[in-house]
Amino acid sequence: MQLIDGKSLANKVQTSVATEVEQLKQEKNIVPGLAVILIGDDPASHAYVKMKAKACEKVGFYSITHSMPDAISQEEIIATIEMMNNNPRIDGILVQLPLPKHVDTDKILEVIDPKKDVDGFHAYNVGRLVTNLDSFVACTPLGVMKMFEEYNIELEGKDVCVVGASNIVGKPMAALLLNANATVTVTHIFTKDLKAHTLQADIVIVGVGVPGLIKEDMVKEGAIVIDIGINRIADGSLVGDVDFKNVSPKCSYITPVPGGVGPMTIAMLLSNTLKSAKQRA
Ligand code: NAD
Repeated sequence: MQLIDGKSLANKVQTSVATEVEQLKQEKNIVPGLAVILIGDDPASHAYVKMKAKACEKVGFYSITHSMPDAISQEEIIATIEMMNNNPRIDGILVQLPLPKHVDTDKILEVIDPKKDVDGFHAYNVGRLVTNLDSFVACTPLGVMKMFEEYNIELEGKDVCVVGASNIVGKPMAALLLNANATVTVTHIFTKDLKAHTLQADIVIVGVGVPGLIKEDMVKEGAIVIDIGINRIADGSLVGDVDFKNVSPKCSYITPVPGGVGPMTIAMLLSNTLKSAKQRA
């Protein structure tokens, strides 16, 4: 069994982004800029935004965070996004999810200029991804693809089972895998027999939010298991959606939690923002 080390791969990506940022500054006098919109006081969202701001600083980006109270109106959020759409120093706009209940998330995401949609959630970019055209791709599944590339894991012709079908994880993951010529099965809460699907897969990718959902008897010998889940359990520790202790001995490759997909998500956000800045250049 080999661990897929997301932390060191993320560091490698960040180092290469930092080098390119320096080049962009010297050659074109452009500093990539990321605007983060943070609404309410959800501690997890605040922690993620802090991590993102720190990562931006590390690679030499210009970054700003617009923090707004929970009770902010949808119109005010839209006005802030439009301001960022028109700000020439900003290459990427990220709205930290989840949003408060009174806000229509789909509507908010549609206001972001697709050219600055570094989270890849805008329908324009999702459509381009599905049709295999160049686009901004959601950072978490993009990070998983980067892991496959780094570890020379071939996808063509492989049977891949994606567990979880959200717009930000499972669906873009499935589209990327299809574009890489894998045979993809997407499962979710209404799937009748999850084990029947995971058990026949060469690669299982799970992003659900249920600790220990994937058990030892649900994966075949030699399978590759990618755990996207991040769950805080009662003792305060972070665990994934895979029963790591019992599943890992059966795997050829597996990602740990923490230190697996999580760091890759931020690395790909930096990479997407750099890509946008290069397009501006
Ligand atoms: P979500 O709630 O939007 O979607 C969950 C998906 O899982 C749904 O499609 C649902 O049908 C499916 N599901 C739920 N219970 C299931 C079950 N028992 N069996 C099969 N399918 C089931 O969640 P999300 O935003 O996609 O996040 C999923 C997980 O991934 C969470 O743990 C989240 O913290 C994590 N996540 C991690 C990163 C990262 O950077 N590593 C990024 C985003 C999300």
